Amino acid sequence: MLKLHGNALSAKIKLGNHSLLTVTRTNCSDEAKGSYAYLMDGQTPDSGYGCYLDFGGRLNNFSSIDGYLNLPLEMGYLEEGDIISVESSGHTNVVFRRNSPHNTILLTERCNHYCLMCSQPPKDVDDSWLMNEAMKLLDLIPKETGNIGFSGGEPTLYGDDFISLIKKAKSSLPNTAIDVLTNGRRFSDPKFAKAYADINHPDCLLGIPIYSDDPVRHNYVVQADGAFDETIKGILNLKKYGQKVEIRIVIHKQTIGRLVETCEFIARNLLFVDHVALMGLEMMGFTRANLDSLWIDPLEYKDILSRAVKVLNAYGIRASVYNHQLCLVNPDVLPNYVKSISDWKNEFVDECEPCLRKSECGGFFSSSKIHRYSDNISPFTSHAK
Ligand code: SF4
Repeated sequence: MLKLHGNALSAKIKLGNHSLLTVTRTNCSDEAKGSYAYLMDGQTPDSGYGCYLDFGGRLNNFSSIDGYLNLPLEMGYLEEGDIISVESSGHTNVVFRRNSPHNTILLTERCNHYCLMCSQPPKDVDDSWLMNEAMKLLDLIPKETGNIGFSGGEPTLYGDDFISLIKKAKSSLPNTAIDVLTNGRRFSDPKFAKAYADINHPDCLLGIPIYSDDPVRHNYVVQADGAFDETIKGILNLKKYGQKVEIRIVIHKQTIGRLVETCEFIARNLLFVDHVALMGLEMMGFTRANLDSLWIDPLEYKDILSRAVKVLNAYGIRASVYNHQLCLVNPDVLPNYVKSISDWKNEFVDECEPCLRKSECGGFFSSSKIHRYSDNISPFTSHAK
């Protein structure tokens, strides 16, 4: 797993907290230098940069220069055009990687859900600095970037500030597609849904979870009374205003029992959604604590997954199967199968070594490799489908 955060091993920096710096190895104008992190190469660098990056102390003969920032060796992948957020302590977060198609910007850790399998357990803290940082980041991300994501927590808890963020994304990055992960409840307020729709972003998709057609089951999974009704109202409001909506269903022991019925519910009542994602479980956050009540081997549910996909396909709903291993799904699912796990947390296990179809397989979350994955991984011995 790529290391996206790290404490400085040593630092001689004088930066404000959460300073955003663009990584460079080329010389900048004197006026611009302060907003760049210079990748040192063993030559004595010009003065004036926001900081000077070293990894694992390889260039510690420069450790006395003002701005020296020695990060863990595992962060040595940083390249020209990447963007880092440096805290005054030297702790550094990689907030944008120029060559990655998987850049997701965390907006908050606050949430009005407490999902059994939340990968980012909610914290009741004032982390509005994350929103301020995201606003600034939008000015630094290159205009040619194809896609970025916004996630939480629940981003719409910001209310009007969330609307302002999407407006800014539209003006700063007019050609960049946006994906937002939200529980959709805030859009049950028609005024909020209208304010969002009025931005008229050309390519913004809201990914909203529905975990069951049974409201009680959905509310149990998200641990919030009344959530199902508000989410459905939110989706209906958004579609009334012509906004793009993706429904996301995470598959686990608490949702598999009604997966087919949930897809039928979507087909009958929400046929107009733009996409449905059927997603495997990520072994992060609460999932690990609740593993006994969540884990089910994908091999056990592969026929149910096939039936769910068949329902969505039959109704002409665009559907994708995310976060699954190729050897654990039936062949009839393959037209909907997507290699979806973000590059920085995508790995394979030792059992995959002889597999002849590894290049077609989505592999594993790094966290699955460590904590739990199927006992039924079976390498393909031929390329035949
Ligand atoms: S054995 Fe092959 S298909 Fe199965 S998880 Fe590994 S690479 Fe994917």
